[in-house]
Amino acid sequence: MIKIIMITKSDKIIIGFFVAIVLSAISGISFAFIKAGLSNNSTQSSSENEVNQNKDYQESKNIENNLSVIPPPRRKQTISTNQLLKQEEEKFIQASQYFNEADRLLTEARGQNNSQSAISLLNEAQKNLEQANNIMKEFEPNSPYHKSAQDYINYIPFYADSINQWKNYFTKLDSHQARNHPWEAITDNSNFIDLTYHNKQSVMAKAKKQSVVLTFDDGPSPQYTEPILDILRKYNVKATFFVVGSQVSQHCAIVQRIYSEGHEIGNHSYTHPWMGRISDEEQQQEIFQTQAIIENCIGSKPRWFRSPYASQNESTLKIAHQAGLNTALWTIDTEDWRKTSTTNSIIQKALNYNRNNIILMHDGVEPNPNFKHPSASLSRSNTVQSLDTIIQRLQDKGFQFVTISEAFSNY
Ligand SMILES: [Zn+2]
Repeated sequence: MIKIIMITKSDKIIIGFFVAIVLSAISGISFAFIKAGLSNNSTQSSSENEVNQNKDYQESKNIENNLSVIPPPRRKQTISTNQLLKQEEEKFIQASQYFNEADRLLTEARGQNNSQSAISLLNEAQKNLEQANNIMKEFEPNSPYHKSAQDYINYIPFYADSINQWKNYFTKLDSHQARNHPWEAITDNSNFIDLTYHNKQSVMAKAKKQSVVLTFDDGPSPQYTEPILDILRKYNVKATFFVVGSQVSQHCAIVQRIYSEGHEIGNHSYTHPWMGRISDEEQQQEIFQTQAIIENCIGSKPRWFRSPYASQNESTLKIAHQAGLNTALWTIDTEDWRKTSTTNSIIQKALNYNRNNIILMHDGVEPNPNFKHPSASLSRSNTVQSLDTIIQRLQDKGFQFVTISEAFSNY
């Protein structure tokens, strides 16, 4: 008895081996038996188990028969893959159209002088953004559009935030009943100029008559800033460069050249973040650190701040004001930053209006590696190539090129 109970380790292996042989023998026999039964195509079986196994076989045989009716699999597969790709492509185009429409509506909303129409445009923008997000989420990891869709999905929350910030901004303006001088509501100082879209008509109307402010953002960059400066010098035209602090620290000599040639230097933050998405302390650092590094480079502090991506909240305006800065966005976006932009499209946009304008162009590419806009181009060659024509045509129309401070010197 004891001997049977006390099984040693090696005994266990032997027993296990024996059990395995017996089991495989049994399954082998039954497999052979089933096989024999099936080859006879017999429906008669001695046990219920075998009846079920036979049913399974019949089903698989039916599937096999159906498959044999289908045309050669490779051809079929090519057609369906193409169709699938086409569907995926259409879906992706549709989703990016929703995204672009949200982008357009956001820009249009910022341009409104009426808070209510701005807010309704922002609501529309929000709906479009949600549609874009819902469709982009549908792309499976094996889809060729999955990666691009992810780029959009990562970017959408930034737009959603920006839409909300502008909604708050317009709501606030209404409640303060300060539509003519909205910045007073925020800073208690009428000397502070907040050139957001909302005020553009009332403020721009007071700017120097027949004046145009050319602005270049995201530089300095050796590749594009220098050729732009050469063109400006050729026409004796003065512009405003909203520089990024981290770029200034690498290319101070270019900033010195901009300044010495009579252009104005503006503050465009240190790392080019979405200001509305970072803490007040971080915003403070972005603005003050850039003031310091520019002063260190050219011996003079900027007077104007421009928020990257037009993302700003009340704190941004307050902090800019504390740093002795006015704030300015733009009144015309040439969209030279878009992948789809061409020299012609930039010229068309820049010459679209016959009134005072602040024109947005770029002498640098996206400086922040964390925020790659899915529609952004990594080249500014089109900007450089369109500049001659823009200057010539505006001069022909009688416009004078001034820096942003010159435009509002009589304000
Ligand atoms: Zn920028």
